[in-house]
Amino acid sequence: MSALLEVKNVSKAFGGVQANSGISLEVPEGKIIGLIGPNGSGKTTLFSSIVGYHPIDSGSIRFEGSEISKMRVRQIARRGLLRTFQQTRIYGGMTCVQNMLISTSMRDQTLGRLFASQKSGEHGRAEELLEFVGLYQKRHLMAGDLSFGQQKLLEFAMALMNEPRLLMLDEPTAGINPTLINGLIDRLKHANTTFGITLFVIEHNMRVIMNLAEHIYCLAHGELLADGKPEEIQNDQRVLDAYLGA
Ligand code: ADP
Repeated sequence: MSALLEVKNVSKAFGGVQANSGISLEVPEGKIIGLIGPNGSGKTTLFSSIVGYHPIDSGSIRFEGSEISKMRVRQIARRGLLRTFQQTRIYGGMTCVQNMLISTSMRDQTLGRLFASQKSGEHGRAEELLEFVGLYQKRHLMAGDLSFGQQKLLEFAMALMNEPRLLMLDEPTAGINPTLINGLIDRLKHANTTFGITLFVIEHNMRVIMNLAEHIYCLAHGELLADGKPEEIQNDQRVLDAYLGA
């Protein structure tokens, strides 16, 4: 059976900069897959290509067997493929609940699968998901008044509102204090095991990604350098050299 996401030979240049060069990788359904690599190695570019933020120069990107590389962001999101950003994209002048409610405009219709049995309606689901990420007490506060770490939790909850099949997270723990990091790891695992959401995660914190992902891809200079289980990647001399040389 083919993987949920299949990236084949994807290349993307910005002017003279070859940001991605012939990258091939797979994200199987139900897994948590990691993407690492030094700064400037092309991780964010690859995420942006997958979600349709910019066209690729060559290669193929398939989601559930369908070619999506020529689709627009919204079309791709509707299929259940979503990403979060390194810098959160929330509306600071709106409350947490309001942010949750507008986040579903990315998808025309949600299935009401997550928590739907406990509270009905979008508002109920928004509150349940805020509780899931530990922000229930702050649900009526302006999102702009939350700490950066809490804003990242809010963004994660907003993504869950859309019931993604595949959620791609760009450095979810960057800028978050260690206590919140542990809570976030638990919730990511929970979203994967209980809600059945496949995760593809860019992460600089090696402790986090080694704990979270069952398979890790490593990029360097826009190319796929290595891939394997966390313990293999951790001991791969090419990976160590790439980080030291960065
Ligand atoms: P990473 O996420 O691994 O840090 P990026 O994908 O952000 O790497 O960047 C890969 C390369 O592509 C870098 O050299 C970066 O400067 C370049 N790049 C990324 N986005 C753009 C852009 N919009 N315009 C020009 N160059 C870009």
